[in-house]
Amino acid sequence: MSYLKSEEEVELLRASNNLVSMTLGMLAAEIRPGITTLGLDRLAEAFIRDHGAIPGFKGYNGFPATLCTSVNEAVVHGIPSGYILKEGDIISVDCGVILNGYYGDTAFTFAVGEIDPKVRRLLDVTRESLEAGVRMAVSGNRIGDISHAVQTVAEAAGFTVVRELVGHGLGKKLHESPEVPNYGRRGSGPKLERGMVICIEPMINMGRRDTIQSGDGWTVKTGDGKPSAHFEYAVAVDKGKADVLSTFEYIDRVLNKT
Ligand code: MG
Ligand code: MG
Repeated sequence: MSYLKSEEEVELLRASNNLVSMTLGMLAAEIRPGITTLGLDRLAEAFIRDHGAIPGFKGYNGFPATLCTSVNEAVVHGIPSGYILKEGDIISVDCGVILNGYYGDTAFTFAVGEIDPKVRRLLDVTRESLEAGVRMAVSGNRIGDISHAVQTVAEAAGFTVVRELVGHGLGKKLHESPEVPNYGRRGSGPKLERGMVICIEPMINMGRRDTIQSGDGWTVKTGDGKPSAHFEYAVAVDKGKADVLSTFEYIDRVLNKT
């Protein structure tokens, strides 16, 4: 059974996810051709510690960094490195924190400079699929309603849904029940109740849906080498309308200024 959060806990989770959202907003201004993914990681760790939190991913199951930086055909769990971002790349930045004992977990896929219009569409559709999932995160619905909404938007655009990785509950632990797949049948799965906090995180591929595990033990890549996008919100299930605890406003403010 999934653990229901009190109103106080939802507010703590909002603060944690707001800090992750701010961190991603800070990074939005730094992502450009020439910066390394490790450079982004160092900026993020300093920012998080300066705000009284600790990185949520560093040391989690042995993960070595603050961010997951997944470039182009990397789907998720990329390890920051000396890789220098170049014009036309896309990079999923997934960030976690622990603030006052509660996790934040939010992700956004950024364009590096000008990108291929088809890749731009992959990013736009993946973000839309997340928003479609969020609209279903209301009490009385089921997890499958979220899954179905995400899948429908992604596949209608001709893209495919990664199945090996799923969203999850969020709280004092990074991964709690229930699982939140990005594909599924309407009306299936656990019932959504007010006080459930879940991460909805579509991972959408331009080509085939199958993935491979790379030799570093972490990075998940597309099997066909084509690009993949990933967006994630933490959401509190509520009556009538989901309460989104993450925000892309800090990012959009930076990106829309250019
Ligand atoms: Mg995440
Ligand atoms: Mg997550």
